[in-house]
Amino acid sequence: MTESIRECGSCSACCTVLGVHEIEKGIYDTCRHVCESGCAIHAERPGSCRSFECQWLRGVLEVDGGIDAQLRPDVCGVIFDYQPHIAFGEMFTVWEVEPGASTRDEPRRIVEGLAERFLVMTVTRSADQKTGPAERRFAGPRHLVSRASDAMWSREA
Ligand code: SF4
Ligand code: SF4
Repeated sequence: MTESIRECGSCSACCTVLGVHEIEKGIYDTCRHVCESGCAIHAERPGSCRSFECQWLRGVLEVDGGIDAQLRPDVCGVIFDYQPHIAFGEMFTVWEVEPGASTRDEPRRIVEGLAERFLVMTVTRSADQKTGPAERRFAGPRHLVSRASDAMWSREA
């Protein structure tokens, strides 16, 4: 696990967006343990929650002009997630926290940069924020995009 150089602060975006198999929490279902201070079972939270760090928390996302706080998922509206994939090598998943947020200037610019080298899957959020993921879009080197399959849909963290 990468050593975090930032703190989640008031962000709890991944507690809604990502699936947590240990507690049967589905993608885009708000976890029943979310509370005002973050997680009501923090000391006993599942291993998936302990190990997950978005790319912002890892300090990977940087933008010019010292405005990287604007890329925290609850602020910019997307979670950048990285996982090595057995078939596609290094792969990024961009999860919309807010519907349409992946099309905003800064997230779009970052996706375009990543896609020059890596497979990037963007998971969009339904407009009503109730019916789970809306769609997924792939970007990246053409040979990787053409091989992207439904198997990658089952990301859980
Ligand atoms: S989305 Fe990132 S910054 Fe937000 S709570 Fe999860 S790990 Fe922390
Ligand atoms: S158990 Fe805690 S850390 Fe895990 S998703 Fe729920 S609120 Fe978040």
